[in-house]
Amino acid sequence: MNEPTRHVSPTRESVTTIAEDGSRNFLRPADVTGRYTLLRRVSATLLILIFIALPYIQMGGYPAVFIDIGQRRFHLFGYTLATQDMWLFFFLVSGTGFTLFFLTAIFGRIFCGWACPQTVFLEHVYRRIERLIEGNASKQKQLDSLPWSDPQKLYRRGIKHILFVIVSALIVHIFIAYFVSIKGLYAMMVSSPLENWDVFFFMTIATGILYFNYSWFREQLCLIICPYGRLQSVLTDDDTLVVGYDELRGEPRGKVGKEGVGDCIGCNRCVQVCPTGIDIRQGYQMECVGCMNCIDACNVVMDTVKRPRGLVSYSSANKRARQKTRILRPRVFVYLILMCIGLAVMTFSVSTYDSASLSLTRMPGQPFYIRNKNIDNQFNVRLINKSGQTEIYSIHVRAGEHPVQILGAEQTVTVTPMQEEVRAVILSLPRDKWTGPFDFTVHLRHEDTGAEVTRKATFIGPRSKN
Ligand code: SF4
Ligand code: SF4
Repeated sequence: MNEPTRHVSPTRESVTTIAEDGSRNFLRPADVTGRYTLLRRVSATLLILIFIALPYIQMGGYPAVFIDIGQRRFHLFGYTLATQDMWLFFFLVSGTGFTLFFLTAIFGRIFCGWACPQTVFLEHVYRRIERLIEGNASKQKQLDSLPWSDPQKLYRRGIKHILFVIVSALIVHIFIAYFVSIKGLYAMMVSSPLENWDVFFFMTIATGILYFNYSWFREQLCLIICPYGRLQSVLTDDDTLVVGYDELRGEPRGKVGKEGVGDCIGCNRCVQVCPTGIDIRQGYQMECVGCMNCIDACNVVMDTVKRPRGLVSYSSANKRARQKTRILRPRVFVYLILMCIGLAVMTFSVSTYDSASLSLTRMPGQPFYIRNKNIDNQFNVRLINKSGQTEIYSIHVRAGEHPVQILGAEQTVTVTPMQEEVRAVILSLPRDKWTGPFDFTVHLRHEDTGAEVTRKATFIGPRSKN
């Protein structure tokens, strides 16, 4: 059997969004319909709804995701993390990062095209508004060519930009609700901006940045700023599923009916719909955000010319080169192991998470005192109620065979939600029982459930027994 011939496409040496004179080549990608576009629209709608709904959903007395900067607490789906629990974020962030690496090694840049907020809002909110007001890509280009004195241009572009500013302000308001809650946001909205000038200032700047990004900067953020795109070359290989063009089938390009040509009819439809302006026929490129517009566009062309779909497809480079694709390969295992470690530690930490926090600090001054016939060690016991309701705790000490008494913790301690209480306690040991330093534990017991949080410390006394 003859080996299929590979036709090498000319290599692109310029960035599509930069014109020859160095100015910005503003893209007007054409609209597209198809299976992937529909799926992407559904998933983007769901993601936007989740973004809007999360501050409204109450779990454990707080919004499902609430970063309470004032109280220095982070409420996450019913769990409350205080500042001293922030180490958990290391595992959350590393677990998420390795999950992304793992998914990228198998599915390519799927996050960018399907779940990144930049793409979700740009493609499914701003560009939809733009098409609604200005029409399709060719009508937008027509408007581009008109002077600003033209009433059509002034009217349509004016309305579009006003809507862009309103949408940007709405997104920023919802974002702020993640930090001040919906109730807090509403209270700020009905009061004078001067009362919350810092939040108002942030809101104005953030709205300006979003407006700039979605109205003008657009794909440049993916091409110039986003570091994830730069990582693609090290995260993916020839077995990764990516959007690609079947060169063996498509080349040489030529009109329908011409002898000896491949399936690509050179219509350029795949380029016209690309939001980053690239030609996928020149191979997998860093600028490709995996949106799959070109697949849907080419499939429509293939249907029209009655050729099989899939000239541009979502598959591995090996498959397109008629080689075997290996899903499970060393790099996938490495990312999988790292992802599992991060997620396992995170899950274990959250499942053993205490709704109360206890800290024990020795009081400044002398480490111990001799009082009557006792040796005393003084501590501050700080307890934080991290739950959403008022809780009652008792404080106990355990020191094995050492008959240590705790003074100052005879009464139970009532702590309101998210508040802390500090008790000065004295641990006292009869002097004739002193044999040298020993460890003890202080127990904070939840009176309702009996759950305990413990802290260990050392009892200190004089060097000699006398
Ligand atoms: S090449 Fe295709 S998948 Fe990649 S960004 Fe352009 S349209 Fe989207
Ligand atoms: S849409 Fe398909 S047929 Fe048209 S140029 Fe692109 S790859 Fe070729």
